[in-house]
Amino acid sequence: MDGSLAEFKPNTALEMDADERRRLFTHAFDLIDRHAGEVRDLPVTPDADPLAVRHHLRRYDFDAPLEAEAVLDDTAALLRRWTVHTTHPGYFGLFNPNPAPMGVLGDLLTAAFNPQLAAWSHAPAAAEIDRHVVAHLGGRLGLPGDPVAGHFTSGGAEANLTGVLLALTRTFPEVAEDGVAALPGRPVLYASAESHLAWLKIAHMCGLGRGAVRLVPVTPDLRMDPRALASAVAADRAQGHLPFLVVGTAGTTSAGVIDPLPELADLAAAEGMRFHVDAAWAGAVALSDRLRPVLDGIERADSVTLDAHKWLSMPMGAGTFLTSDAEGLQETFRISTSYMPEGISGAPDPYASSVQWSRRAIGLKLFVTLATIGREGYAQAIERQTDLGDLLRRRLTEAGWRVLNHTPLPVVCFTDGRDRPSDGPSDVHADAERLQSIAERVLATGRAWISTTSLAGTPALRACITNFATTESDVESLATDLTRG
Ligand SMILES: *Cc1c(COP(=O)(O)O)cnc(C)c1O
Repeated sequence: MDGSLAEFKPNTALEMDADERRRLFTHAFDLIDRHAGEVRDLPVTPDADPLAVRHHLRRYDFDAPLEAEAVLDDTAALLRRWTVHTTHPGYFGLFNPNPAPMGVLGDLLTAAFNPQLAAWSHAPAAAEIDRHVVAHLGGRLGLPGDPVAGHFTSGGAEANLTGVLLALTRTFPEVAEDGVAALPGRPVLYASAESHLAWLKIAHMCGLGRGAVRLVPVTPDLRMDPRALASAVAADRAQGHLPFLVVGTAGTTSAGVIDPLPELADLAAAEGMRFHVDAAWAGAVALSDRLRPVLDGIERADSVTLDAHKWLSMPMGAGTFLTSDAEGLQETFRISTSYMPEGISGAPDPYASSVQWSRRAIGLKLFVTLATIGREGYAQAIERQTDLGDLLRRRLTEAGWRVLNHTPLPVVCFTDGRDRPSDGPSDVHADAERLQSIAERVLATGRAWISTTSLAGTPALRACITNFATTESDVESLATDLTRG
C-alpha cells in the first residue's frame, strides 16, 4: 500500500479518507437505488403537516457530531416520507421532472469537481460543455447564430427575466445607466392571459412595475389573439407608452397551448418590438423530428426559454436562455472588476453575460445524458409520452369526461361539467369545488397526482404526462380511478 495513503489523517472534519469516502458514497447510492425500486409502491402524495416535519428536525441541534450513515439514512427517510414523489410513474403533474439517471450522475460529477463557471478561464471544460449543449438546443430550434448564443439558468423564470432585461437594454440603451425612470414613457410588454405569471414578478424586479405587463386576451382555443394584441399595442402607443416586447408562449403551463408564433413574430417585426418565446416545458419537442413542427415560428424569436428540468428530465435547476443576440447579452450584463480573472477573447465570461455571478456547471448533466441516449433517445421518450397523452384523452372522452384543451402535447384538461361558465360566478365556484374534491379523491388513492386549474375562467382537472417512467397501465389506472367515483 502507498505509504502516504496509509498515513493519511484528515486535516479537518470536512475531509474524509479514501475508505470512508468510498463507504459513504456506496451507502448513498444504495439509498438512491432503494428509492428507485420502491417509489412505485409509495403513496405519490405525503400527508404533510409542517409541525410534524419541524418536530422531527428538532433532534438536530448540531452541538455534537453524528454518525454519517445515520444522518444519510434519516435524511433519505425524511425525503421518502415528506415529498410529493415526482419520480413516481403516477405523477401526472406540473412538469416537475423524474430525473434521468444519467442526469443525476452528471450532476454528481458537477458537484464533486465543482467548476466555477463565472469566468471562462476558471472552467474551460465546463464552460465549453455548456456552450456546446446550448448551441445544439438553439440549432434544433432553428435560431440564427453560429453557434446560437445563450447560457444555462436556474430555470424558466430566470431565463424569462433575462429575456426582458435583454429586450429592454437593446430597445432603450439608456436604461442601463439611467433606469426606466429616464424614459419619456412607460415601457410595456405583452403576454397572453394564459401565460406563466412569472412575468408579473419579472416586471416588478426590472423596475417596470407589474402594471407594465399586458395580459392579452385569448381566442376560444386559449391562444393569444393577434388582433387583441394589435389593438393593445395601438392603444398603448396612443397613450404615450413604449411597447417593447411581445412574448409568445409555446406550451402554456395550464393547457399546453401554443400561441400563433408566426403571427406574433410578424406583429413584433412590424411594430419594431422584440419577440421572446417562452417554451419552458414544450420546447423539449425540438429534439423530435416528428413534433418539432408544432413550434413553427419559434426560429424567428430574438430569444427563447427552454427548461431542461422539465420535459428533458434533468435534476433541478436547469433552464436555458437561447438567443441570436450574443452581443446584446454582453451589453446587458457587462461588468468588469479588478479581482476577476482577465477575459479571454472569443470566450465570453458567463458572469459578464448573464444574471448569475458564481455559476454551477448546469449543462454538464444534460451533456452526459444527450451523449449517452442521443437525440434519438430523447425523441423516442417525448413521442411516447405524447402518445400516452392521446391515450388518456381517448379514455377520458370514452368515459364521458369533456376535454377542454386542444393541444398536440400530453397535457389534458377536462371536466364533468359545462365547457364554458354560463350561469355566473356561483356555478363556476361550485364546478371548481366539485373538481377539487375529485382531484383529492385521486390523490387519496396514493396511486396518482393530478391537479385542478382554470382555463380562461373555466375550472378543470389537469393531468400531464412528462414522466418517462409512466406507462400505458398507469394511464389506464388513472382513467379508471377517475371514473370509479
Ligand atoms: C414552468 C414554467 C415557467 C417557469 O419556469 P421555472 O423553471 O419553474 O422557473 C415559465 N414559463 C412556463 C410556460 C412554464 O411552464
